Amino acid sequence: MTRLLELRDVTACYGPVQALFGITLDLDQGEVVALMGRNGMGKTTTIRCISRLMPHSGGSLRLAGRDIAGLTAPKVARLGVGLVPEGRRCFAPLTVAENLTVAARPGPWDMARVCALFPRLRERMGQVARTLSGGEQQMLAIGRALMTNPRLLVLDEATEGLAPVVRHEIWQAVRRLKAEGLSILLVDKSLREIAQVADRAVIVERGATVWQGGIADLTADLADRYLGV
Ligand code: ATP
Repeated sequence: MTRLLELRDVTACYGPVQALFGITLDLDQGEVVALMGRNGMGKTTTIRCISRLMPHSGGSLRLAGRDIAGLTAPKVARLGVGLVPEGRRCFAPLTVAENLTVAARPGPWDMARVCALFPRLRERMGQVARTLSGGEQQMLAIGRALMTNPRLLVLDEATEGLAPVVRHEIWQAVRRLKAEGLSILLVDKSLREIAQVADRAVIVERGATVWQGGIADLTADLADRYLGV
């Protein structure tokens, strides 16, 4: 197995306030890893550090063996980190087609393949993103990240606030992406879905990794202690 992403004791601050106290995380090529923890424990901050949307203050971050600590967000994106941020940010005034085209980089993922994954997007190619439903916007956000042909897809709460039927479609897509061999780091609250798709989980508590292991080893005890379920 090739190690695709490796974080060691990553710390980070928002101004004077420290948010991360030691995040350690491993993700191998082709793996789906769930980053778990209660609200405010540092999952989004970890993702921001990985995508270089914010600087870290200590520890190390490696993508395919390369130190990414000093790189800018666009550079890390070019190296293959495809981020689907919390809140599904699409370019609101642009059409679906435009949102997808501006993200495109050479590789197996193109408009046709994204539409095969999310047929609803095909029907809405000319529609401006602002007028899409929440679920369609989420599909577009994922489609846009795929158009960059990422080596690692990062999904931050991709199913949050969506109707059950749409959540189902998103999870189905995630399972398909996994089957196709894509490496995925995801944050989500649905333990049931995570248990079905993830290979491993990393649990964070107050900005630090407290547990990392195979999804089958995530016991009810651990879930109760760290996830409040
Ligand atoms: P959630 O599931 O609620 O999104 P999370 O695990 O993603 O939670 P983070 O958003 O990473 O948690 O937040 C970690 C800590 O950093 C929290 O204490 C939060 O209040 C703080 N924090 C997050 N964003 C900011 C910010 N922009 N400025 C200051 N503090 C922040």
